[in-house]
Amino acid sequence: MGSEKVIEEKNQGQALLTDHKEGNNKKLYIESYGCQMNLNDSEIVASILSEEGYNTTHLIEEADLVLVNTCSIREKAEQTVRKRLQKYNAIKKINPTMKVGVLGCMAERLKAKFLEEEKIVDLVVGPDAYRDLPNLLQEVSSGRDAINVILSKEETYGDVAPVRLNSNGVSAFVSITRGCDNMCTFCVVPFTRGRERSREPKSILDEVKQLSEKNYKEITLLGQNVDSYLWYGGGLKKDFKNASEIAKATAVDFAQLLDMVATAFPKIRIRFSTSNPQDMSLNVIHTMAKHENICKYIHLPVQSGSTSVLKRMNRQHTREEYMELIDHIKKIIPDCAISQDMMTGFCGETEEEHRDTLSLLEYVKYDFGFMFAYSERPGTPAAKKMPDDIPLDVKKRRLAEIILVQQKHSLLRLKQFVGKTVEILIEGSSKKSDAHWKGRNSQNAVAVFPKGNEKIGDFVNVYIEDCTSATLLGKRV
Ligand code: SAM
Repeated sequence: MGSEKVIEEKNQGQALLTDHKEGNNKKLYIESYGCQMNLNDSEIVASILSEEGYNTTHLIEEADLVLVNTCSIREKAEQTVRKRLQKYNAIKKINPTMKVGVLGCMAERLKAKFLEEEKIVDLVVGPDAYRDLPNLLQEVSSGRDAINVILSKEETYGDVAPVRLNSNGVSAFVSITRGCDNMCTFCVVPFTRGRERSREPKSILDEVKQLSEKNYKEITLLGQNVDSYLWYGGGLKKDFKNASEIAKATAVDFAQLLDMVATAFPKIRIRFSTSNPQDMSLNVIHTMAKHENICKYIHLPVQSGSTSVLKRMNRQHTREEYMELIDHIKKIIPDCAISQDMMTGFCGETEEEHRDTLSLLEYVKYDFGFMFAYSERPGTPAAKKMPDDIPLDVKKRRLAEIILVQQKHSLLRLKQFVGKTVEILIEGSSKKSDAHWKGRNSQNAVAVFPKGNEKIGDFVNVYIEDCTSATLLGKRV
């Protein structure tokens, strides 16, 4: 349970490192902010730059190139990056030949304005332009600023094998879609990541095969809206209607993709994120139930429990439809964990609408939650058409109220495992104690237990003796 959406907290803004390639003599310092997709994009960037002579470093002072992969989802995310740029500026005074590049959503949102506003930035590259990095770096080395923020109809980086950054050698991300067509009125993603397109199933299966050969045990299929996955030979999702009859007949949707991956790799645990209620089909839920290796966990953002707020947000479902989907999940997969994203203080939100959100929380009793106060983003439909009229103190009070309810439910959910034996995939040592392992069960609950002769990447049965509000405590059986 978290009040800020940080998918892997330890990787936010940390120097990302990978194995060194023999013969590379330039040094890349790369940091990533925001969602899992950004982290996976940084892995693609590191892979492209590894072919250009760059190895990663954790010492910013010795870097030839500093890249920051940015997030625009809330104002605070952008402020964090601005502060990092000030820090790079100070280091540039010691190391004047160091070049600084901004990647990702903030690069796309601000474009050339970034070069004007932040004098220290040499390079601005949007999420669909990473293949152009070698050319852009040449421009930069000849003393010019370089920018490419063109959004693509086709780009999925399907053929770029990402190098794994800060990897535990156990779990990895595999992108399956890029962009988003949903046009939620609050959201900047369609503007920064472009229209939705899906990656060819074969290239996804090839990447999972490579990971399995390297002994990875768990993959997370990634997209802004994975349920909307649709491969029909390439191109934008919105153009599917114009595809040939044969392309339509042989198209692969998300349930089919899940089935293909789970069948081909029965020993790999499969997760996926993010689901969107309007696009999640019963076929997906049945496919999850059919395969033991698909984790029994769905992250299903809802944003609000009020139909009128959902309408203003342009979410394509009502409170009742969402509840019906939850009922289906619980019926088809009784042990499925469900988590939410929720937003307080969206334009015009009344106390009654807020209470609808609290009552939805009570109805679902989510296992985890990521909760935010609404932050107006320039250029979004909400910013253009609806006043951001809920005072900050009201947003914060409502946020605190939903966090409190979620904490109660998170504890309730974890307590269900006490007295039971669960299968845990060991990911590494516990943060708090080197004498304990840390791992997760199928439902994504974190468990710690004393170390024996196991190793990272082992699946072990753990008897759960107790829990805190965020962690299961047990011993190996
Ligand atoms: N694609 C997913 C969806 O549509 O539900 C998640 C997208 S976003 C990267 C992750 C979460 O950030 C959202 O689910 C939402 O709760 C939150 N978010 C998005 N825009 C926001 C905004 N303008 N202010 C506050 N939170 C926001």
